[in-house]
Amino acid sequence: MTKVTMLNLKKNPTLSDFQKYVEELEVKRGFRDQSARDKCLLLGEEIGELFKAIRKAEGLKIDKDSTFGNISHELADILIYLCSIANRFNIDLEKSFREKEEVNKKRTWDTS
Ligand SMILES: [Mg+2]
Repeated sequence: MTKVTMLNLKKNPTLSDFQKYVEELEVKRGFRDQSARDKCLLLGEEIGELFKAIRKAEGLKIDKDSTFGNISHELADILIYLCSIANRFNIDLEKSFREKEEVNKKRTWDTS
């Protein structure tokens, strides 16, 4: 008999914990064989859904047949896809964030 384990994201998860969770959910839901390209296209769709949610929140006209969630849920969808893409390249997102921020700190930002 196969042991059925429930997906569980621990309290106060690290970014690495999110990446591990997404890896597990992809196995459980049958998404593991989707390529990075597939995931990028799906990420693009989720970004579009976020934009629609923001347009709606800001009172702009939205096509009535559009399907999307609230801003909070669409941001969560995007985080899932970011993790799934990072996982396909064995990228540690926390390390990436820290490294890139060190680069960004050295930049001069024109805010005018
Ligand atoms: Mg969505």
